[in-house]
Amino acid sequence: MAATGANMSIRAIRYKISASVQENGPRPVLPLAHGDPSVFPAFRTAVEAEDAVAAALRTGQFNCYPAGVGLPAARSAVAEHLSQGVPYKLSADDIFLTAGGTQAIEVIIPVLAQTAGANILLPRPGYPNYEARAAFNKLEVRHFDLIPEKGWEVDIDSLESIADKNTTAMVIINPNNPCGSVYSYDHLAKVAEVARKLGILVIADEVYGKLVLGCAPFIPMGVFGHTTPVLSIGSLSKSWIVPGWRLGWVAVYDPRKILEETKISTSITNYLNVSTDPATFIQAALPQILENTKEDFFKGIIGLLKESSEICYREIKENKYITCPHKPEGSMFVMVKLNLHLLEEIHDDIDFCCKLAKEESVILCPGSVLGMENWVRITFACVPTSLRDGLERIKSFCQRNNKKNLINGC
Ligand SMILES: *Cc1c(COP(=O)(O)O)cnc(C)c1O
Repeated sequence: MAATGANMSIRAIRYKISASVQENGPRPVLPLAHGDPSVFPAFRTAVEAEDAVAAALRTGQFNCYPAGVGLPAARSAVAEHLSQGVPYKLSADDIFLTAGGTQAIEVIIPVLAQTAGANILLPRPGYPNYEARAAFNKLEVRHFDLIPEKGWEVDIDSLESIADKNTTAMVIINPNNPCGSVYSYDHLAKVAEVARKLGILVIADEVYGKLVLGCAPFIPMGVFGHTTPVLSIGSLSKSWIVPGWRLGWVAVYDPRKILEETKISTSITNYLNVSTDPATFIQAALPQILENTKEDFFKGIIGLLKESSEICYREIKENKYITCPHKPEGSMFVMVKLNLHLLEEIHDDIDFCCKLAKEESVILCPGSVLGMENWVRITFACVPTSLRDGLERIKSFCQRNNKKNLINGC
């Protein structure tokens, strides 16, 4: 039972870490493992988005079941929105609305798994939902590495050696969770070129598409749709800071209509016709959400994330017990390596996270859960005071657990 096993172990680890926190301890618990900053008033969504939802609700017209793959007006609005980023036009038929990015993964994986013996290439570190879904659907997973020293780029050369004739797709997450990297045009072009050579789809998880903090722009993978077909996963959850609204989508970028023969759109439609849909009134609000949200809203959120990512990077550099190979440029996260040889009796990343939770009431995500042992993921989507406090506590935890017999602490 690999499926239940994979799921249980991640849950078991999370539970173990949360259970380590002392209830009613002297200091507040600092959760630095989340991807949902909506609890902080500074990260409140755009007023235009709230207005759009309230207005849709008040019409009284959207209390009904929605159409199977989404309201036509909402699908058109997403098509319009995404077409702005690519050199061709998407149509409403290319868009499938889902209950968040999570349901987008939930539909894509079983659709690919229908081919007997198929396998999929997933990034390491990655987003564990893909592995869990693949396990439930008996889709074989093969991992390729993201290289820390190269800004967490895909190990392109390895793709050809791990793929075979049964490989159907590869997943790329950009901007990246958990690494915080944003891929360049050139790198994405290389990814597209290898995918073309292998005859596979690229599944581009772009739920952080608007959360780019540096100078490097976000390039939608659909830009390379002429090279190889792309299924893009999008969502309001992260960019609009409304994960509870449960609205996402799958966009099919296939200007050469290569996928028509595979009937992938039909399969997605069939799957969504028998699964639950995003709430009708949220779908109905989508055209106004996309159209009315002002650039200032995103500028504000990006400003906050940029400031906190700088604090995070600076504080990590001051802490010799952890190493950050690449400054985050997007998303809400950064991966850091634990220098366990400097620490007394901390056995691995899970041990580190459990002891840190117990002694300092700080929650981090252990790298093991994401496919990278002895690394941890830190979220910087927090207000600066909490973030500074959390990083301070991590430092004092490390100092207290400093390896005793090291000369000069080296
Ligand atoms: C959060 C997240 C998702 C899921 O998106 P929701 O809209 O919250 O369901 C998918 N992929 C990645 C990489 C994520 O971080």
